[in-house]
Amino acid sequence: MSPPDGIAMPAKPAATGCHGGAETMQDAARAAGKSAMLDRLAADYPKGPHDQPQSMCPAFGSLRVGLRMRRVATILSGSACCVYGLTFTSHFYGARRSVGYVPFDSETLVTGQLFEDIRKAVRETARPAEYDAVVVINLCVPTASGVPLDLLPKEIDGVRIIGIDVPGFGVPTHAEAKDVLAGTMLRYARTEAEAGAVASPRTKLADGQRVTLIGELFPADPPVVAAMLAPMGLAIGPQIPAREWRDLYGALDCSIAAAVHPFYTASIREFAAAGRAIVGSAPVGESATADWLDAIGKAANISAKTIDIAKAQALAPIRAAMAANPTTARLIVSGYEGSELLVARLLMEAGATVPYVGTALPRTEWSEPDRAWLEAQGTHVQYRASLEQDIAAMRDVKPDLAIGTTPLVQAAKEQGTPAVYFTNMVSARPVFGTAGVAALPGIVATQCKGRERFSRMVGFFEAPGSTKPAKAEVV
Ligand code: SF4
Repeated sequence: MSPPDGIAMPAKPAATGCHGGAETMQDAARAAGKSAMLDRLAADYPKGPHDQPQSMCPAFGSLRVGLRMRRVATILSGSACCVYGLTFTSHFYGARRSVGYVPFDSETLVTGQLFEDIRKAVRETARPAEYDAVVVINLCVPTASGVPLDLLPKEIDGVRIIGIDVPGFGVPTHAEAKDVLAGTMLRYARTEAEAGAVASPRTKLADGQRVTLIGELFPADPPVVAAMLAPMGLAIGPQIPAREWRDLYGALDCSIAAAVHPFYTASIREFAAAGRAIVGSAPVGESATADWLDAIGKAANISAKTIDIAKAQALAPIRAAMAANPTTARLIVSGYEGSELLVARLLMEAGATVPYVGTALPRTEWSEPDRAWLEAQGTHVQYRASLEQDIAAMRDVKPDLAIGTTPLVQAAKEQGTPAVYFTNMVSARPVFGTAGVAALPGIVATQCKGRERFSRMVGFFEAPGSTKPAKAEVV
């Protein structure tokens, strides 16, 4: 994919990770017997212009998925500094429960005692009255050292034991690390369901055909989707990532898995193995909603007439909301949530110009409809976008507003460009259906008004660190 005129992409940045030696860690892990695991990660999460995360530790994604589940204990195995950062971030995001930790030193690492310590911790934690599952996450050093979590017992007194390797040198983003755990749990739950009766979800499943939404969504989004599906006689089931072990069975018990976040490769593999249809893209704005309802209806064998009724009911209010919330802003959009293409598509339908969309996630077939739509409008879509590429795009595009990652927002503010953190913008607002149309263009309009204030701030803080004095101006 070549950039459009005016956007010059910088060269691939050097591969550096937390330890500054991803290849060394990879070699060590392979020598320690982790080749099959690393090959699987490389196939599921192909790397791009940069080989290492440029955001938070990827393992946070797996940790977060575990911590958000009822009756699931999560234990980290890794360096103390990594665990400190991960637990700090977890509690910053309101984990409100303990994170287990099995510490090690060089002796317990090389003698194999660390594995024994993990096994002991798992045995002590696996209390069936309290937990359905115990998750153990190998961070970089134990993974590189070959700590064999696959040798842990599969269950203890009915408590499932889930051991996963989530090294920063193998999983490119924290978003994909969510899929590492979600996919592993789905595989376990699918095997259980195939072997016999399993528990029902706490909330009764709706009758008829159900759609499972894949992706961490704003709480108002699933009911919006459910209302759009109702005219076709379809309902939604529990989401993935799940909030409780028994919800995994309910999520698998669907007709269609909707990959509204398109990077859950391992999870999608489990739905496909269970014989479920998979549908990509998502109901954002008018055209994507129409296409998505078409695709879902066809996958569920709904008649064309009924699909048209559902589309008519969904699209009229979206059109009205679009007319009531226009925007003419020039934007760039980048992030690591996996919904960047959807957000850009929605804002463009609302009237924005978006010459560049960067996402830290890889290209998958489930985002193809959105990539094709955006590129047909002249937008450059950069998968596995690096910070350097995002910043270069911002300098070329000269947007009214940059919606991006924290370092991009910082770079934008330094040059006086209004900017907003993508994650905060989308995680605190709906994106689907009428609610999304009403929410996102409004925040763009509000943020764009800040340009003059940003210019004054640049003037005030001009040349920090230089001998040039700041202007005495109140901002
Ligand atoms: S686990 Fe790996 S990627 Fe995560 S903070 Fe530690 S060294 Fe960095």
